[in-house]
Amino acid sequence: FGVSRLAGKDALDQVWKVLPEARLVGGVVRDLLAGRPSMDIDLATPLPPDAVIQRLSQAGLRTIPTGLAHGTVTALVLDHPIEITTLRRDEATDGRHAVVAWTTDWREDAARRDFTINAMSLTRDGVLHDYFGGAADLAAGHVRFVGLASKRIEEDALRMLRYFRFQARYGTGAPDREAVDAIAAALPALDGLSAERVWSELRRILLAPDPAATLLLMQSLGVLDRLLPGGAAADRLVRRLAHLAIPEEVAGDPVLRLAALVRGPAGPVADALRLSRAEAEQLAALLADRPAPVAGLDDAALRRMLADEPASLLLGRGWLRHDGGNPGGWCAVCARLRAMAPPVFPLAGRDLLAIGLPAGPALGRLLAATRGWWLQGGCSADHAACLAHCLDRAREAGVLA
Ligand code: ATP
Ligand code: MG
Repeated sequence: FGVSRLAGKDALDQVWKVLPEARLVGGVVRDLLAGRPSMDIDLATPLPPDAVIQRLSQAGLRTIPTGLAHGTVTALVLDHPIEITTLRRDEATDGRHAVVAWTTDWREDAARRDFTINAMSLTRDGVLHDYFGGAADLAAGHVRFVGLASKRIEEDALRMLRYFRFQARYGTGAPDREAVDAIAAALPALDGLSAERVWSELRRILLAPDPAATLLLMQSLGVLDRLLPGGAAADRLVRRLAHLAIPEEVAGDPVLRLAALVRGPAGPVADALRLSRAEAEQLAALLADRPAPVAGLDDAALRRMLADEPASLLLGRGWLRHDGGNPGGWCAVCARLRAMAPPVFPLAGRDLLAIGLPAGPALGRLLAATRGWWLQGGCSADHAACLAHCLDRAREAGVLA
């Protein structure tokens, strides 16, 4: 199954030595079968969490009790986090969160999972356990609920949005009739979902490699209008994605895609999805009634825009505003804007947090000092060089050992 090519395979082997009965579960099995790279390694085991911690510790492996209430222990091996979760079964439900209990029955654990493609497990010896036909569904591009769709949605309304997330990525076949009907009948339950969870799913749908069919399906079912105050225009976003090159600077930006999707003003959308302050400001700026680069503008006009706003924002707004005609002209104006734009400092606070620097005022000072060094050097240092410089200064300042 290509387990040997997994990023983190050595770490996985160390855990498997101590917990030989544990199986890979969920997304990683699905991605292995689909031949796609997988982000996280998730294991499940019939052992209760305290026994898992004991075995790992005895072998000298570091454990972090990341989600003990859910039965999850994270082993940190060779810098690689591996999540180990005790088998569970769904007990009862309040419609928002399933209430779970431990079990030693693999099938019960698979049965509480959302989709057949997410309910497979793989043993250390390479045996695939596929209780609900997930492998065949994956091959057919069929995203199907485990059990009755209507019941699974009643247990947990978030599964409606998870359906679209997986449909966007794996649903090459026609959408599952039963799932679509069940979602259509359960729309009001979307109102009870937390804003963070809605945005977290929606952003993944928006950034899927080819989200068009799924977005149109969500629109036709009334899902998007339910989620976004002021309503949605999926057809506009879909047309734009299909016909107009999205500038690479903003291609991975979910807020730009959201801006192309919404009909109403930015404020209520930002509130409804509880966007971060930066995201909310960006959405407002993208939709603001301000100049956008369009084909035919001369250099002086582009320079005036760049004096007021960063190139990435202008490129995003240009993409939003473009009427879809003359795609060659659009690429040309992007290229001219890029050539004129002042260089952008290639480091951000989140880069420093990502490598383990503690949040706080010291971080802001480090960033400012590094930016000064970058400006003095004629803005030629790239991301890696700036990061290296910043780390040196962090060590000097004692922020980092
Ligand atoms: P991705 O690669 O996008 O992270 P994933 O399958 O790992 O996909 P997660 O959201 O990380 O998705 O969930 C991990 C696994 O947990 C899923 O594969 C599924 O088996 C199970 N799961 C997660 N959320 C739910 C839910 N709301 N209802 C039922 N099962 C769920
Ligand atoms: Mg995952």
